[in-house]
Amino acid sequence: MAKPPYKIEPGERVNLEDLDTGADGGWERDAAEARTLELGKELGELQELLYAAGQHALLLVLQGRDTAGKDGTIRHLLLHLNAQGTSIAPFKVPTPKEIAHDFLWRVHQVTPGRGETTIFNRSHYEDVLVVRVHSLVPEDVWKLRYEAINNFERLLVQSNTIVVKVMLHISKDEQEQRLLEREQETEKAWKLSVGDWKEREHWDAYTKAYEAALERCSEIPWHVVPADKKWFRNLAVTELLVETLRPYRDGWMEKLAKLGETAKAELAEYRATQP
Ligand code: AMP
Ligand code: MG
Repeated sequence: MAKPPYKIEPGERVNLEDLDTGADGGWERDAAEARTLELGKELGELQELLYAAGQHALLLVLQGRDTAGKDGTIRHLLLHLNAQGTSIAPFKVPTPKEIAHDFLWRVHQVTPGRGETTIFNRSHYEDVLVVRVHSLVPEDVWKLRYEAINNFERLLVQSNTIVVKVMLHISKDEQEQRLLEREQETEKAWKLSVGDWKEREHWDAYTKAYEAALERCSEIPWHVVPADKKWFRNLAVTELLVETLRPYRDGWMEKLAKLGETAKAELAEYRATQP
């Protein structure tokens, strides 16, 4: 396959075992971190334009197994994104109220409006991942959800939302390492959960569920980001966002120029009325 991150083309078959979790694109850590910083600055500038132009929304969907680095990725991106105009939406076990609705109800409420950026920490995909692995609803119910997700994402795109979908891809060994660290490091202990060790027993079932989601919901492509090396993960996600937003730059600048012209004309008119 091509260089990481791995882009899943519409309808493509996915075998996660074939995608290297430890890939680093041939980068050395120092050089990668320097490049990430540069790209991070560009990301901040692009987000500023997105915000100011108010024409598009940005939605980053972050999925991955426990310890894959969803929290760390968000922390990294927030070094560069402006808190004004950015929100993080975490998806936990649904509340009784949420579960009483269709599975997209809680999701749609927190999608970004034009000018806004939202990062999903987990997402509507949990409803075809954990729900499928643990048969939380019958198969004939979760099976229909892939199509519902495709329709939902299509609707977002039609409403000017730029949707970027990332699966953080780690190995089973790396996960074990990270879970053990949570026991050893006080600062990480808040994340300790016996549930994570129990979920590990379902590793292969999750692999299958992820592969199905990546294949069946690929109209808006997934990007599988090798995440064993955190510094490469940060580089890959930052670069992906920058490359996605760059083509919009000229259009946003044009819009801002127009806004500037209108405001200047109003100002000139106002001044003309002044003695
Ligand atoms: P964490 O990401 O560590 O905060 O954990 C959130 C937990 O919520 C994970 O174990 C998810 O699998 C679970 N979760 C998220 N969405 C759903 C859902 N729709 N149904 C069941 N469990 C969910
Ligand atoms: Mg957790």
